[in-house]
This record gives sequence, structure tokens and C-alpha cells, in this order.
Amino acid sequence: TAPTAVVTPGDQFARDLPELALPWQAADAPDPRLLVLDDALAGDLGLDPTWLRTPGGVRFLLGLDVPDGAKPVAQAYAGHQFGNYSPRLGDGRALLLGELRHRDGDLRDLHLKGSGRTPFSRGGDGFAAVGPMLREHVVSEAMHALGVPTTRSLAVVATGREVVRETALPGAVLVRVARSHLRVGSFQFARATDDLDLLRRLADHAIARHHPHLSDQDDRYLGLYREVVSAQARLVARWMLLGFIHGVMNTDNMTISGETIDYGPCAFLEAYDPATVYSSIDHGGRYAYGNQPAVAQWNLARLAEAMLPLFDDDQDTAIAAAVAELEGFAPRYDAAWAAGMCAKLGLPAAEEHRGLVDDLVALKQDNHVDHTSFHRSLSAAARGDREPARSLVLDLAAADAWLDRWLALDPDAAAMDRVNPVYVPRNHLVEAALAAAVDGDLRPVGELVAACADPFTERPGLDRFAEAAPEGFGTGYRTF
Ligand code: AMP
Ligand code: MG
Ligand code: MG
Repeated sequence: TAPTAVVTPGDQFARDLPELALPWQAADAPDPRLLVLDDALAGDLGLDPTWLRTPGGVRFLLGLDVPDGAKPVAQAYAGHQFGNYSPRLGDGRALLLGELRHRDGDLRDLHLKGSGRTPFSRGGDGFAAVGPMLREHVVSEAMHALGVPTTRSLAVVATGREVVRETALPGAVLVRVARSHLRVGSFQFARATDDLDLLRRLADHAIARHHPHLSDQDDRYLGLYREVVSAQARLVARWMLLGFIHGVMNTDNMTISGETIDYGPCAFLEAYDPATVYSSIDHGGRYAYGNQPAVAQWNLARLAEAMLPLFDDDQDTAIAAAVAELEGFAPRYDAAWAAGMCAKLGLPAAEEHRGLVDDLVALKQDNHVDHTSFHRSLSAAARGDREPARSLVLDLAAADAWLDRWLALDPDAAAMDRVNPVYVPRNHLVEAALAAAVDGDLRPVGELVAACADPFTERPGLDRFAEAAPEGFGTGYRTF
């Protein structure tokens, strides 16, 4: 096929918010090699996957051949990292190439991660390694297939450059696609400039992009804040129901769109324990599995502080309005989580099931059951075979007592199988697949992505993707 004329990414962000957009270019890549490409996503963005596989297409993916009219920028943002405020973070190893129109009619950012130093790099080298970029690819593709709002991974390209970490590693660029890269930290940055016009333009840009129905409303900024609170409450509920641990919920890693962003030290929970952490630097457990709803709420309080001047000229009035909205987080999170738990149990959402749900959580925790396997095994119990579920629990008397109560409610096994995945990117599989890829064998990554692409349908030959980690794997396991 003849190479299709390249779609030129738009520059809406750069035009609306020049103060947050530093024109920049990607670093050259000595020996580019396309490692993975999501053909369907390419097509949805109007890009020809066949062309993207050509040398010219790969240079486009690396931001090296920028179509006329496109204006790549490094984005400025601030953020609280582990609770400490940094006034200037920004894209230290990333670039926004611009916006593309998705088949669904909405814009998407085309963004590079690992594309070289920028004025925001501080001490960093601006690069990324193959392993972590493929981890983001595998996990974000799985999250998308699980129905969780997330940034997407269009491609990972090995650059041929050595990246020095603890050892020398092969370098790579991740080509990320998102509804936007606006973060809580973007608002913190704008607020810290004391330029109210910039803050207002940022909020208007976010409204135009994510909630255009608000644009002609007088209280649109409070409306935007309410939408972010609500989207994040729903998002974190989805994480909790699936056992997903983000790992580094800094305010610069929380989106305005409500998409999961920045897959670093993330992982899916194995043995159920709210204290679980997979990050090597999270010594205090700030971002542990069970803390995620509270941290999301803390981050949303920081967003409210940044947006306060937009809510009302009188700051007392503005604070009262923000507090009222923030107080909506807990009930919204709770409602989304409780309804999700009822769905996982094949029951209609109802307050009367609360005790049953709470007792299940206690049972999972007391018995350190594998989160994914246990929930999936419950549909077998609903069909009359309790053994798969019982085999995961030590306290059989407690398990049977709980199963008796639940089964008396006549749960819908088929509905359960549509929400409790068989396949998630389990830590030991991700680790093995990334190690093989770094050694040049991309098949395990492809197989894992394929298994997780249809997570709710049990398929023959894929048993090993459904099994818990081998004995001894989990102890001290860290994802970076
Ligand atoms: P993260 O922890 O991935 O959210 O990144 C936090 C900040 O550090 C962001 O401003 C990143 O751009 C920056 N950063 C992370 N890794 C690098 C790197 N290798 N070189 C330059 N900046 C980096
Ligand atoms: Mg980040
Ligand atoms: Mg990161």
C-alpha cells in the first residue's frame, strides 16, 4: 500500500495555553525499531497501521518527522509528589505532538514518553527504557479491555539508544493517546502564576474538551470541578473493584478527564490486603491499595484550592462551594463501589447487601485470597460448584457460612462472568514478558496482551494466564 498522507495533529492546547506549552522537539533515535502497535487504535485515529510500520511511519511515531503545521510542545505542570509540592514538574521526558480526531468524534492527544530532555528535565536524562514502556503498554491495554477509563498505548518504539539506570538498558519511546493530558497539577501550575486569566483559559479549555455542555453556564467552573470529583470517584471505585494499584497517585498523575494515567509502579493485587504496595519508593504506604480512595480525595482538595478564584470573587463563598462539592466524593465513591461489588456478586445493587459485602471483604482479607481468582471462582459456586472458591480459602467454616448466605440470594452467574475477569496482567507474567522483550523476544508480550484483550471470556489454552503467581514470587515484589 502507498503511504497515506499523514494526518497533521492539531495544536489546540498550544494555541489556547501558550504559557503551559513549550515548543520543543524529540531527540533523534539512532536505530528505531517498532516493538508493538495497536492497529485498531491507529485506525480509530485515522492513521494507517501499514504506513506506521514503514520507516517513515516509525519516524512519525517518534516525533522525528513532524507534519507541517504540527507544533510539538512540552507541557508545564506542578504537583504534589508524596504530599510535597513541586512548583515546576512538567514534561521532563515527554512531548505533546498534538491532537487527533478519534472515530468517536472527540479529540485525542498524541503524546510521546521517553522522547529526550526538555527544559523541564531537571536532573533526568529525558529517556525511558523498553521494560517500563512495555509495562505501560501491557497494563493500559488491559485496563482498556477491562472497561476502565485510561490513556491508551498506540505504540512502543525501541530507539537503539542505551539508557543508563542501575545498569545500561535499551531505550524506548511510548506513543500515548489520551482524551487530554490535563492534570490536577496543570491547575496547580496555572494557579501558582497568579494569572487569573490563564487559570480561566485552562478551565475553559478543559470544559471545551471534556464537558462542552457546561460552556454556557454561569457556574461552569464549579460544574467542571463537580465533574472531575465525580469522574475520579467512579474511576477509583473501578480500580478497587479490580484490585488495581496505581502506585504513584501524585497530583500530577491525576487527570481532569478521569482517565487512569502514568503506569509506573502499578500492579494488580494478588493476595487481598489493603496495605499492599508494589512501589520501591512508597515506604510509608501512602499509595497502598486501600488508601487510594482517600488519596484521590486529598488530590481533589488540592484541585479545589487551585480553582478557588474561579468559583467566586468572595473567597469564603468559594471555599464553602468547593467544600460542598468535595463532600460529594465519598458518597459517590461509596455508591460506585457498593454497586460494583453487588455486580461482582451477581446481585442487584441494594443497600440491604451491604453487610454481606463487608463480610466478604473481611473474609478475603483474613484468608489472603487471590483477588482475581476468588471473584471469578464465585460464579462456579453460583452454578453449584463451591470447590474452586473453597480451595482458595483457609477458614472453610467461615467460607461456607458466607457462601450459604450469598447463594440463598440466587446470584446471576452469567452476569458475574461479565464483570469478574479471568485474565489480568498478573505480576509474574508481566515480569517474564518484559524480560523476554528486553532480550529480543516479543512473543510473550504479544500473548499476554492478547489474553488480556478479552478478559472476561475463558478460552482454552490460556490457563497459565489465569493462574496465581507461583509460590514465593510475591514476597517483596516491586514494579520499579
Ligand atoms: P512521574 O513520576 O513519572 O509522574 O514523573 C514525575 C516528573 O519527573 C515529571 O515531571 C517527569 O517528566 C519527570 N521525569 C521522570 N523521569 C524522567 C527522566 N528520565 N528524565 C527527565 N524527567 C523525568
Ligand atoms: Mg507523571
Ligand atoms: Mg511516570
